[in-house]
Amino acid sequence: MAKFENNGIIEFDEKDFKAAWDNAPKLINKDENQFRMCFICKFHMEFKDKLKGKMPWNIEIINLNNIELINENFIAIHDGCKELRPKSNCTKIIKKIKSVSWKFDENFYK
Ligand SMILES: [Zn+2]
Repeated sequence: MAKFENNGIIEFDEKDFKAAWDNAPKLINKDENQFRMCFICKFHMEFKDKLKGKMPWNIEIINLNNIELINENFIAIHDGCKELRPKSNCTKIIKKIKSVSWKFDENFYK
């Protein structure tokens, strides 16, 4: 369970990372345990790149107006996309994105 440290930093544990991953949009032609989509840039994330690699992903808080440290408020996004989030509360945007199907474009990487 995530908790606030004295220095104002939030410390996450493995369960939080799992919850954030599970909340990220799926790609219909990829294994959801290995690939998800970053809702900000719409590029894929690979599970093994958690906090490392060329495109690392990390936990982002969905609603910054109400920083509740619960599973529903965590989502996985690229580390580099954190500063590109459009709003302090992304609940509606994420809901909209997850309401449509997303597909990994194999041709793009050929
Ligand atoms: Zn991204």
